[in-house]
Amino acid sequence: MSVLIFATNNNNKIHEIRSILNDNMQIIGLREAGIFTDIPEPHPTLEENAREKSTFIFKLTNSDCFSEDTGLEVAALNGEPGVKSARYAGDENDNQKNIEKLLQKMTLVNDRTAQFRTVISLIVNGEEIQFEGLCKGTITEIQRGDKGFGYDSIFIPDGSDKTFAEMEMADKNIFSHRKKATSKLIDFLNKNHG
Ligand code: IMP
Repeated sequence: MSVLIFATNNNNKIHEIRSILNDNMQIIGLREAGIFTDIPEPHPTLEENAREKSTFIFKLTNSDCFSEDTGLEVAALNGEPGVKSARYAGDENDNQKNIEKLLQKMTLVNDRTAQFRTVISLIVNGEEIQFEGLCKGTITEIQRGDKGFGYDSIFIPDGSDKTFAEMEMADKNIFSHRKKATSKLIDFLNKNHG
């Protein structure tokens, strides 16, 4: 069985990926790999930050690994908050403050289209490959729903009339950027390492 390190401490993300991988792959998170370092995310793009994280772990362990980075990109704000999504309103990574800042900036905006974008960076046998997952939708004027996390309560994916925060996890996954990127990763792993 091959082992792949997922450069995250987020247990939900680890469980989600484990539940769809075949039995020949074992995924371990950073803590399980004995890594307790904070990985830097200093770059202006999701692609570069994802690569930074996977390369950092590869150099440390010399093992196959992957990372992911996600951002909300609002058309009328030239792609903001984008790579700054987690810390849009300040370094403390406060979801509510981030949402308030975004809605405030969009008060007079007519074009409310936006997309979530996830980039996964996989390193296998020392070579990097990236997978992207996109979810297009619109930003609401007020928050709706109490499920999910991050910007879920102000994002309605195309094809639905509910925000992500009004959906059960299984329904969010029908549309989700992260699920789409993860499925591409899993297809690749199952074909090449199954
Ligand atoms: P991360 O790098 O994947 O942890 O995501 C960065 C930020 O993007 C998070 O702090 C959230 O605010 C936001 N984000 C990422 N994925 C989602 C999502 O699926 N729904 C809502 N917000 C998200």
